[in-house]
Amino acid sequence: MKRKPKLGQNFLVDDTARHAIVDALGDLRSRTVIEIGPGHGSITEILADRCHRLIALELDSALAAELTFRFRNQPQVQIVEIDVLKADLRTLVPEGEAVDVIGNLPYYITSDILLKLFAAGSAGIVSRAVLMMQREVADRVSAAPGVRDYGLLSATAQMNAQVEHLFTLPPAAFSPPPDVYSTVLRLHFAPRFAELGVDAPGFDAFLKQIFAQKRKTLQNNLRAAGYSAEQLAAAWPDSIPPQARAEALPLESIAQLYKALP
Ligand code: SAM
Repeated sequence: MKRKPKLGQNFLVDDTARHAIVDALGDLRSRTVIEIGPGHGSITEILADRCHRLIALELDSALAAELTFRFRNQPQVQIVEIDVLKADLRTLVPEGEAVDVIGNLPYYITSDILLKLFAAGSAGIVSRAVLMMQREVADRVSAAPGVRDYGLLSATAQMNAQVEHLFTLPPAAFSPPPDVYSTVLRLHFAPRFAELGVDAPGFDAFLKQIFAQKRKTLQNNLRAAGYSAEQLAAAWPDSIPPQARAEALPLESIAQLYKALP
């Protein structure tokens, strides 16, 4: 297999795993699915027979051409040669539909893809995703408050989706093998901003402020972001210890603090 290492091309060769990834989306007969980075089609070929419509986004023009030819007799499969980060999902997705997303992601842009999907989830364009990513990133996305991996990515992900850890694969499941283990997560997009009574842009910015420096306390990060000691003292909820770090707090407490601050 020809390969462009810069594009994160580690192709999935484990047959059980590629079926398990598609199985994780359940019955797809009436669903439109977007696949990110179909590569040589190891997941694509299973999806094509199972879903109502498949839109596969591939940046590598040689791979996109290979797949276009391979699926030429399957009109439900559309191969789009495009950078997923530049794709306008709204125009790709049928009007009024919330689609599923699947992908063994190009690991070098995992965070950017997740942020794009969170926005699409908020816009009602995407409802679920099953995504393979580097194990360390998946651990951060799914970490609960108080554990070592919990941070900005965890809080942002969990404001936007319910996250389920499905399974982890060794490097040997891919050709060529990457240097890292890989984990598959399932996300149900369900933004919590309204439920917690916060506005999305303001709360996203607040999360960046309070997770700015992991070693600092919440109060010190907020001081660094421009809040005065008096403002913090006046607004501080009794339920949050003054020396707390953002990493220890559930999203409900962070939202309570955000709403209390000026
Ligand atoms: N789905 C295939 C598999 O599981 O064997 C390939 C997965 S490989 C880890 C990632 C794929 O994403 C490659 O085919 C790569 O060319 C493609 N890719 C890399 N950057 C991309 C981008 N910005 N937009 C769309 N596809 C991209």
